[in-house]
Amino acid sequence: MTTDTRAVVIGGGIVGCSVAYHLARLGWTDTILVEQHDLTDGTTWHSAGFVTALRGVPAHRKLVSYYPALARVLAAETGRDAGWRPVGGLRLATTSARVDELRRQAHAAEDAGIMMELRTASSAAPLAPLLDLDGVQAAAWLPGDGFVRPKDASATLAEAAGALGVQVKKGVKVSGLKLNGKKIAGVTTSEGTIHADTVVLATGAATASLGHLAGAAVPVVPLKHQYAVTAAFDPALDPDKLPTVRDPDANLYLRGAGGGLIIGGYATVPEPAWPTDGSAPLAEPRALFKPQSTEELAVAAAARVPGLPDIIKIVNGPEGFTPDGEPLIGATEVPGLWVAAGMGLHGLGLAGGAGKCLAELITAGQSEWDMQPFNPQRFGPFAHNRHWITTRAVDAFQRTFR
Ligand SMILES: Cc1cc2nc3c(=O)[nH]c(=O)nc-3n(C[C@H](O)[C@H](O)[C@H](O)COP(=O)(O)OP(=O)(O)OC[C@H]3O[C@@H](n4cnc5c(N)ncnc54)[C@H](O)[C@@H]3O)c2cc1C
Repeated sequence: MTTDTRAVVIGGGIVGCSVAYHLARLGWTDTILVEQHDLTDGTTWHSAGFVTALRGVPAHRKLVSYYPALARVLAAETGRDAGWRPVGGLRLATTSARVDELRRQAHAAEDAGIMMELRTASSAAPLAPLLDLDGVQAAAWLPGDGFVRPKDASATLAEAAGALGVQVKKGVKVSGLKLNGKKIAGVTTSEGTIHADTVVLATGAATASLGHLAGAAVPVVPLKHQYAVTAAFDPALDPDKLPTVRDPDANLYLRGAGGGLIIGGYATVPEPAWPTDGSAPLAEPRALFKPQSTEELAVAAAARVPGLPDIIKIVNGPEGFTPDGEPLIGATEVPGLWVAAGMGLHGLGLAGGAGKCLAELITAGQSEWDMQPFNPQRFGPFAHNRHWITTRAVDAFQRTFR
């Protein structure tokens, strides 16, 4: 079967759903979204969903700050819960260096228009009575932070896109990218060819492999990341009543989920997850890796949360990272081939804004917010070197999360 369309978005995770929705909102309703599995079955389905605006370059903050407003629009358009939970965020400092960092971040937040309040441990305590704040020298309260329920958010984006005319094709795998000379001309799929002058790679951790199909270097490196889930408290904890908590000195973050907690930390040396058989990442639906040890995490969490229930589940999954830790949003070196990927553990917060800005770049040649820091071609010829991109992505992960 051969089809003609204006744009093809490859990837039905939260980012692809957002790109397709925003293209349609800008009038490109003749768009087809192609997902090889079911929607979200790459990385999005298992995301812990934490969202904070307090990170990255100003453009990053702009993108994240857009999400709550988008969630309200989506809820109004679909009549469904768009998955945004504005529970606020608490960031703890237990060392004087971390207190200094919080003070610096407070200045940056003020410049960026992000609400952030510095508190003493005793004035932070009522925000999260569950916590033992022993050793906390200061805390930052970010009322705009929260978490996203990944499946609800993606489903409302896909539904709203569909209502505008986007065709969502699930269980359809892209096996080739068609070129006309040097320009993109469409995609070859398990269900035939789709001709289009515009193709978007929203393929998460698999994006480097998809780029290769057109000879484009799109430096997204799959790395493993994991968190744990505890049993429910008795009585069960309402996840919508607890702020997200980050305790970077203990390498710990947590939020409510399923009556208990999601607890996580960051690997000292994250492990690349390039498939050893030469296949593309995400080829299997909902694939997870063997869990790593959670001993240190459990000790850190139990010290901060008295009466912490036992860990009942560990989720170790793939995520796409770039050589500098910032996403790729924009044009690739192949005319007509665009990318929104490499979200580096911030995809839930970034997806709304990434979809909006990429759709603006595609349809109008410019976006409301400056996407230059996320230019997919910023690494030049180094992007072709898998060893270089992997080494740099590991390094960026270590610098970002410690
Ligand atoms: C354990 C863990 C915890 C996380 N926690 C957080 C968090 O707290 N907050 C946060 O913001 N982020 C978090 N992340 C990251 C976040 O989940 C991702 O950034 C986000 O889900 C990426 O969305 P995506 O749409 O880019 O990718 P994906 O969800 O992976 O979607 C890409 C899609 O492309 C499809 N695809 C690939 N190749 C093809 C092909 N050839 N043909 C058709 N379809 C194809 C895949 O099947 C997949 O569905 C976490 C990640 C992990 C691993």
